Amino acid sequence: MSDSLFADASQRFAQALKYVQISEDAIEHLKYPKASLQVSIPVRMDDGSLRVFQGYRVRYDDTRGPGKGGVRFHPSVSMDEVQSLAFWMTFKCAALNLPFGGAKGGVALNPKELSKFELERLSRGYIEEIADFIGPDVDILAPDVYTNQMIMGWMMDQYSVIKRKISPAVVTGKPLTMGGSLGRDTATATGAFYVIEAMMPKFGRRPQETTVAIQGFGNAGAELAQLLWQAGYRVVAVSDSQGGIYAAQGLDIPSVRQFKETTRSVKAVYCEGTVCNIVDHEVITNQDLLALDVDILVPAALENQIMAENAANCRAKFIFEVANGPVSAAADAILEQKGCQVFPDILVNAGGVTVSYFEWVQNRSGLYWSLGEVNQRLRQRMVEEAEHIWKIAQELAVSMRTAAYVHAINRLAEALAAKGTRDYYVNGHH
Ligand code: GLU
Repeated sequence: MSDSLFADASQRFAQALKYVQISEDAIEHLKYPKASLQVSIPVRMDDGSLRVFQGYRVRYDDTRGPGKGGVRFHPSVSMDEVQSLAFWMTFKCAALNLPFGGAKGGVALNPKELSKFELERLSRGYIEEIADFIGPDVDILAPDVYTNQMIMGWMMDQYSVIKRKISPAVVTGKPLTMGGSLGRDTATATGAFYVIEAMMPKFGRRPQETTVAIQGFGNAGAELAQLLWQAGYRVVAVSDSQGGIYAAQGLDIPSVRQFKETTRSVKAVYCEGTVCNIVDHEVITNQDLLALDVDILVPAALENQIMAENAANCRAKFIFEVANGPVSAAADAILEQKGCQVFPDILVNAGGVTVSYFEWVQNRSGLYWSLGEVNQRLRQRMVEEAEHIWKIAQELAVSMRTAAYVHAINRLAEALAAKGTRDYYVNGHH
């Protein structure tokens, strides 16, 4: 096991290199983040005291367009994590052929401990510190773990205040009234659903005979549970950070969601209910959930959930990665031996950033699309790229993950090559 998330992430890139035509220069380029920023954010707390939080923004690569990626509020945020997430965004945007590079940001804190006012001051403070590092043509923010529409709205507003002009295209995933796109809030789950629907028939699978376990009941996990339930899949287990529930006959997802929602506190912006309180089902731990004998396992929480230590316990036949980086490189090898087919994050969860791209396009054109139009374009792109990656996997006889990286690296290599000899001179070799 690698001690750094980034070292682990880099292994996927290295594994795909032998299948692509790429110059040594381009490989050297993609090994390092283009720019990394760490800032201290002073926040006046409600009790009058001052607390300073650590914030980060990494622009990993912008060969194919401005940096793009979410902002995460979580206690485990670090430079290593943000850099890894920015690295994944680079390959995700290339795999989906979005005209963006990869970026990511985060603030290390437990957002559930902050009041709504404190959270707003923190969000505005973060923008205050990174304003010169981002922009609609430079690096565009979006939601990620524990950040949502409301927070994106504050961030967009603060940026506009600093720049003295309304700048909706600097942030995606905004409230609709501030230039958000219809369908962005459900896009990650919807995109993952389209990929599942496109891939399962290749294995002769029908929804009615397919069981699913979902780890994580946030924006992506809860919405995907709903979509799968509606399509007739048997969702037998779900969990959140506090634990999970299991019912062999399948869970009634709308009631689970409603239960979790009813305890949403007005104090802050986070739901304080947990799925564990639904007592008529068997209560399980997150580790139990990952080891369930189900057809499809969906990790939709955080990275590093399936590692060398617990991968052998996994009994699922298919894993669809809705979280970023939930399966480590060492776990990949174990799962492959077990015959478990893993569909990678950079494809499966790319619906979010794809609709972010649509939002950015709408902001810049000033013309807004209907929900039907957004979803139709999302479906088309997700299915087309998923099929392309599937074809690469068959032709090269490699995993879907390696195929997705091959697909992305080919596009990145082409873009780097198209820049010609600029770097050769800029870097002062002549
Ligand atoms: N945070 C999401 C991701 O990891 C969305 C990023 C975006 O929309 O820019 O893909």
